[in-house]
Amino acid sequence: MQAIRVLLIDDDAQDRRLVKKALSEVCGNTPISSAEAENLQAAEELLKINSYDVVLLDLNLVETRGTETVQNFRRINSEVPVVVLTGLEDEDMAIEAIKAGADDYVAKGNLSNDLLPRSIRYSIERKKTEIKLRQAKKEAERLQAETELANKHLQVSIERANLMTKEAMLSNQAKGEFLANMSHEIRTPMNGIIGFTDILMDEQLSTQQREYVGIIKTAANNLLSLVNDILDFSKVEAGKLDTQIKKFNIKPFLDDIVQLIRLEADKKKLEFKLEFDNSIADSISTDSSRLRQCLFNLLSNAIKFTDKGHIILRVTPETKDSKNYIRFDVEDTGIGIPQDKQEFVFEAFSQVDSSFTREHGGTGLGLAITKQLSELLGGTLTLTSEQGKGSTFSICIPASPPENGNILEDKTQGELSQENSFSADIPQSICNALVVEDNRTNLLLITLLLQKLGVKAVPVDNAPEAIQRASQENFDMIFMDIQMPQIDGYEATKKLRTQGITTPIIAITAHAMQADREKCFEAGCNDYVSKPISRVKLQQIISKYVPAVKNAAENHMESFSS
Ligand code: ATP
Ligand code: MG
Repeated sequence: MQAIRVLLIDDDAQDRRLVKKALSEVCGNTPISSAEAENLQAAEELLKINSYDVVLLDLNLVETRGTETVQNFRRINSEVPVVVLTGLEDEDMAIEAIKAGADDYVAKGNLSNDLLPRSIRYSIERKKTEIKLRQAKKEAERLQAETELANKHLQVSIERANLMTKEAMLSNQAKGEFLANMSHEIRTPMNGIIGFTDILMDEQLSTQQREYVGIIKTAANNLLSLVNDILDFSKVEAGKLDTQIKKFNIKPFLDDIVQLIRLEADKKKLEFKLEFDNSIADSISTDSSRLRQCLFNLLSNAIKFTDKGHIILRVTPETKDSKNYIRFDVEDTGIGIPQDKQEFVFEAFSQVDSSFTREHGGTGLGLAITKQLSELLGGTLTLTSEQGKGSTFSICIPASPPENGNILEDKTQGELSQENSFSADIPQSICNALVVEDNRTNLLLITLLLQKLGVKAVPVDNAPEAIQRASQENFDMIFMDIQMPQIDGYEATKKLRTQGITTPIIAITAHAMQADREKCFEAGCNDYVSKPISRVKLQQIISKYVPAVKNAAENHMESFSS
């Protein structure tokens, strides 16, 4: 057993002897080794060279008395347990001594019983606990500091992550802007290429020349649809593609699609059928142009990958969770898709058979876009297919307007069917148009196209001149390019409207984005055509505005004669 090392501080030699005697008697089986000091100075010297388990301290020394003795000792040593020795009547002082830093007290009169060793053990234990507590506290403080540091690091990381998110958002925005600009830059020359090949087709050409021009036209159209696909895909990726949920009549909408697809199907001698379930409500609410894009993609694929048999567009109602959906199945009897490739075809740039692509063209973006668009419309795109037998792609989208949504009506459906029955017989005498476009090629193209449609077109290549002419001369229509230097189309239109000019203004936009279209209407335009401008588009616009022109002319004549 290890001895308890005791330092006894007492100025009275007699008392020291008594205490030592008591120690040796009452601590019988616990070995004690003790040292003595008659004042604090001597104690300090001893404490420098030895370590002690406990100090027995007489409160009343020559130089100090009472609590002061404890305080002075604690200045010398703050760690070692201290038991103060008091007179029998000094209980109060002993309590004060404990407050001042002692651990316990024993009255000198009680040295003969076992109070002294108990007090020694107690104060040693108490000190140990105190030290442990202090260490635990220190450890807790260290851990707290560590946690605070980790929190600080976390905060810095969060801030950095936020910054990176912001940067990513900004670069996404930059990507969106880059796409819009790209779309402008690419569509403008495409406008020229496609438009002039159309015009060239009307010229006296040899069979071979006609074939070459036809090839240019097909290639240009393919390039344009590729550019459109890439732009669409990137826009969906960048979250830039917006939807406009509007209520429209489903039948004329489908008629337009069927007319075009039937032409393509006929070319490959495929049977094409529309199976329409008549229990479907007349009008549905979704984004018609996105839905049209989806159906065209699926139907074009069906035609592309089918050599014989039929293609069916089946339209049926569906109810899920008591909500109305509309389902479009595009069924073909084509080459089909092997089971293990069925998931992969929805990924961008993925095609089952690259040799087929070399022959028939395509980028592998159609299905990726269709899937994303279907999801954007709140629906799904699914596939069932058997290799060698055929495939069915199904789009299922909500058909009712979203709850508490304010739904506008889309009145543009069926224009194609109307347009096809429209004869391009435009009364030349009352139809003249001002064409404003800064790009010389496009200006010439639109002017030529309008002239071919029987419209007297006046070309102007800048906005200030256009504003001047429009306010001095009478035009039945104004075709206004939007992106022009100095004064752009929005600005010019606003100026004309504030001058009280009510002539229909048709914006020519290179941007096919919804926001740009809305900006056109806000500026005061009546309509818009997006580039590349084709004869069909111009014909549609003229047919829409010529009756108004005619009426205006008739009214004018009436008021003239009265
Ligand atoms: P893009 O549509 O970009 O012009 P693509 O038609 O090749 O090119 P997707 O429409 O994405 O691209 O189709 C991806 C692939 O899925 C196709 O290349 C083809 O292998 C397969 N596929 C799509 N539709 C059918 C179908 N109806 N029958 C058989 N295979 C199909
Ligand atoms: Mg495709």
